[in-house]
Amino acid sequence: MRQTLSFIPTLRETPADAEVKSHQLLLRAGFIRQNTSGIYSFLPLGKRVLHKVERIIREEMEAINSVEVFMPALQQAELWQETGRWYSYGDELMRLKDRNDREFALGATHEEIITSLLRDEIKSYKKLPLTLYQIQSKFRDEKRPRFGLLRGREFLMKDAYSFHATTDSLDKTYDDMMQAYSNIFSRLGLNFRAVIADSGAIGGKDNHEFMVLSEIGEDTIAYSDSSPYAANIEMAAVQMEYTRPDEQARPVEKVETPGQKTISQVAEFLETTPENCIKTLVFKADEELIVVLSRGDHEVNDVKAKHISGAKLIELATPEEVRELLSCDIGSIGPVGLPADVRVFADNAVQSIVNGITGANEDGVHLKNVTPGEDFAVEAYGDLRFIKEGDPSPDGKGTIQFARGIEVGHIFKLGTTYSEPMKATFLNDQGKAMPYIMGCYGIGVSRIVAAVAEEFQDDSGFTWPSAVAPYEIHVVPVNVKDDVQRETGEEIYEQLKAQGFEVLLDDRKERAGVKFADADLIGMPLRITVGKKAAEGILEVKMREANETAEWHKDEVLEKAREFFKK
Ligand code: ATP
Ligand code: MG
Repeated sequence: MRQTLSFIPTLRETPADAEVKSHQLLLRAGFIRQNTSGIYSFLPLGKRVLHKVERIIREEMEAINSVEVFMPALQQAELWQETGRWYSYGDELMRLKDRNDREFALGATHEEIITSLLRDEIKSYKKLPLTLYQIQSKFRDEKRPRFGLLRGREFLMKDAYSFHATTDSLDKTYDDMMQAYSNIFSRLGLNFRAVIADSGAIGGKDNHEFMVLSEIGEDTIAYSDSSPYAANIEMAAVQMEYTRPDEQARPVEKVETPGQKTISQVAEFLETTPENCIKTLVFKADEELIVVLSRGDHEVNDVKAKHISGAKLIELATPEEVRELLSCDIGSIGPVGLPADVRVFADNAVQSIVNGITGANEDGVHLKNVTPGEDFAVEAYGDLRFIKEGDPSPDGKGTIQFARGIEVGHIFKLGTTYSEPMKATFLNDQGKAMPYIMGCYGIGVSRIVAAVAEEFQDDSGFTWPSAVAPYEIHVVPVNVKDDVQRETGEEIYEQLKAQGFEVLLDDRKERAGVKFADADLIGMPLRITVGKKAAEGILEVKMREANETAEWHKDEVLEKAREFFKK
C-alpha cells in the first residue's frame, strides 16, 4: 500500500485524555479514533492489526472443529425474558424499541440467541457435540468505559458456544478450548496465565479467565509462590483456621467516638487493633438489604457475598439506603440491634472475635465488648473476604502473591443454565428429551489489540511483532524528488509485494525527519530506508523491535527479508 493513498493520521502530541500507553499510542499512530465515550473507529492500520488477531483466532478455532457463524446484534427482548436476564442483567444491557414499541436488546453476549437457534434445529444426540463461534460486535453500557479499546461500550468479541449430550463431552471441548486459547495468546506474544474465575452474570460452574500480566490490568490475580495455583482475587478461596481467644465475653458498653469513621481511626481512638473490630457493610442483594461482616483488617469480597446470599446481583447500598434502614451514617453501623428481618452473614474470622468493637447504629457512637453469638445472631458464617498477600495458598502449597492482569478471555462450563429455562432439548440414546449441556468461550478481540499495543512499544512508538503488525515491511525513500531514491523504492516495493510480503511504501513528499518519526511511531517490524547510498545499491535496514540497523544490498533484499520473517 502506498502511504499517499492510505489514511494514517499520526499526531505529534500525546492526546491529553488518554490515560494508558496503548490508548495514547493507538491514537497518536493513527490506528484508532474515538467517536464518543467507549466507542471507537478502527482506521486502516488498526483494522489490519484487528484482522490479523482475528485470523489467528479463526485458525485456532477451526483447528478444534469450532465452526464460524454470524448472529444478529439486535435481539428480541422475549429471548432475554425466557432466561430472566432481561431483568437481572442490569444497566449494562443496551435496550431499545422498534417502531411498534417492541423491545430489543443490543447483544451483550449471545447465549440466548444461539440456544434459541439450536433448540429448533438439533433433535438427536447423534448430531452432538457441536461448537459454533462468531466474531462480532458486543454492546455493553459499561459504568466506566476506559483505557480506550480495553473497556469499550461497543467492542469486538469472539464468542463460541458448545453443545453436548454428556458432561464428558463438555469436559473434552473445554480442554480443547483451553489449549486453543493458550495457542492464540502464545502466537500473539502475550505473557498470560489461565486463572480460576467467577462466572458473573453468565452463570454456570467451572470457568477460567485468561489474563495478560500487566501493570494496568484491572483484575488482581492471586497466585501461589510455590505451585501452579492462580485465581482471580474475586474467587480465591481463603482457607485459614482462626483461633478464638480464651476470654470471657463482657457486657456491651457504649463509647463516644466523635468524628471517628474509618476502622483504623476507631481502632486507634479506642486503643485497639483493626483485628479486634467488626466491619459492617450493607449490600443490596437483588432487592433485599443484607448485612455482611468481616474483621476490621479484612475486605469483604462482594462475589462471595453474592454467592452466600443467593442473590443474582449485589452492590453496596448507598449512604441514603443505609440511613433509611438504620438512621445513621455508614461509618457508624454495626450488627447489634438490627431490625429482625435483616439477614446477617459473616466471614469465618468474625467468629473468633471476643469483646470486639462495632458501630452502634448511631452517629458518633461505637460499641465495646461485642461478641458474636452473644450480642447478635448470624445467619451463616463462610469465606466472605478477599484473600491477602501472605495468606496460605488454598491448595495448601506456598503463600499467596498478587499480580495485575488484563482479562483477554473467559471460558465457562454452563451446563444446562440456558438450555433448561429455554427448553432446548435433544433426544438421548434412549429416546428421552434432555436439555443440552453447554459451554461458552469468549475472547476480547479488540481488547487484545490494546493488550498487544500496551506490551509492544518503546519511547518512539510501536514495536509490533510480525504476527500482528499491520504491514511486515515499511519501505521509506528518504527523498522522493530524487529519481534514484524514488525509483529504487518503487522497485523494492513491487518486488517484495510480488513475493507475498505485506509492504507499506512511504511515497509522501515529507521531510526525512517526519518520515522517520512516523515510521518509528507506526512501528513495522522491518524498515528499509532508501537514502543517498541507493546510488550504490545500498539500503539501510532497521529491525524495529531489536532496534538494530544493518546495510543490505538491494539485490539481497528478498533473501534477507525471507530470513528475517522465517518465510
Ligand atoms: P470484565 O470483567 O473485564 O468486564 P467480563 O467478565 O464482563 O469482563 P465476558 O462477559 O466474559 O467479560 O466477555 C468475554 C471477553 O470479552 C472478556 O474476557 C474480555 O476480554 C472481553 N470484554 C468484556 N467486556 C469488554 C469491554 N467492555 N470492552 C472490551 N472487551 C471486553
Ligand atoms: Mg464486564
